[in-house]
Amino acid sequence: MIESTLTHLECGMCGAVYPADQLWNLCPACARPLLARYDLARAAATLTLAALRERAPTLWRYAEVLPVRDPDHRLSLGEGWTPLVHATRLGGQIGCPNTYVKDESLNPTGSFKARGLGVAVSRAAELGARELAIPSAGNAAGALSAYAALAGLPAHVFMPADVPQPFQAECRALGAHVTLVDGLINDCGARVRAGAAEYGWFDCSTLKEPYRLEGKKTMGYELAEQLGWQLPDVIIYPTGGGTGLVGMWKAFDELQAMGLIDARRPRMVSVQATGCAPIVQAYRAGHEHAELWPGAKTVADGLRVPVAVGDFLIIRAVRASGGTALTVDDAAMIAHANLLGATTGIFAAPEGGACLAAQVALLESGWIAPDETVVLFNTGTGLKYAHLWV
Ligand SMILES: *Cc1c(COP(=O)(O)O)cnc(C)c1O
Repeated sequence: MIESTLTHLECGMCGAVYPADQLWNLCPACARPLLARYDLARAAATLTLAALRERAPTLWRYAEVLPVRDPDHRLSLGEGWTPLVHATRLGGQIGCPNTYVKDESLNPTGSFKARGLGVAVSRAAELGARELAIPSAGNAAGALSAYAALAGLPAHVFMPADVPQPFQAECRALGAHVTLVDGLINDCGARVRAGAAEYGWFDCSTLKEPYRLEGKKTMGYELAEQLGWQLPDVIIYPTGGGTGLVGMWKAFDELQAMGLIDARRPRMVSVQATGCAPIVQAYRAGHEHAELWPGAKTVADGLRVPVAVGDFLIIRAVRASGGTALTVDDAAMIAHANLLGATTGIFAAPEGGACLAAQVALLESGWIAPDETVVLFNTGTGLKYAHLWV
């Protein structure tokens, strides 16, 4: 049995420390995200290259650095260990031969939200949560619905009323209670908070509980492992709440503390939509926090996040890495999803197309050199956005 080495939770903003074995949302002192901390010396004793070779191809292969203590509570639909595709034809066409696509569309429920919610629901069930709730622009709702069904817990999902039909259908088929809200994801968040206060639902909003981040950080562990413990020069990430970017940055620190990688880090690129770019705006202005983006509009539902509680963690990681932040418009996302599709065989979500559009722009400006190793994230399947291609 692989043991979790979770020790405590620490606020990412004020540094306050909390015991790990009870349910928490935001830091009670400053209302910012709590981060899981581990005994990494103990984890390093068993999380070895030889041990990893024997382990199953899911994210639970990194159980020492995940929060779930009882193996029976590690819910699995086969999440994680997605392919890292060396996109040679694509790389040839755009003049960057070492271009790789981490294809997260192959996760259960068709997006990388399965990583975060697989771990968060497992841990919430372990700690005694009775009902789960989430505000979502689409993919997170489907992932919560799936893992709640697996755990046998009721799920309450709140989505903007204009979310494409496949996202709604998926939640209904998975047994969730679906509420459509006239508004954006932050309006949905207010409905979840009201339900949490009135009915005791556990709020699974991203970065408002500590463990979706832990699930998403496994993308960083996988990248390192799949590239032979050598990180790429550049990682391009489509940023909504920023959980994956912040999670990978955390993973790299943990990997280094365990002696699995050295101090070199990829430059982290945060991509947002022209119609919703609070992080890009704050980054360019030199701020540490982002302002609410009014009238957020983009076909990339995962990027339609006007306000992120972990904004400072995203911006700090981008800056510390020597990275950058830029916007891409919706037409460029679709055009580049098509280029990705026709050269790799991967039907990408517009968020995946956004990463390629950003890569092409950064190659043109010279920010990325042609001989650098670049990893793009295709964070979801294009199938749920098929309406964009009719
Ligand atoms: C949620 C989502 C994103 C944004 O992910 P964050 O880690 O919250 O920034 C990107 N792409 C897709 C397809 C998503 O569902």
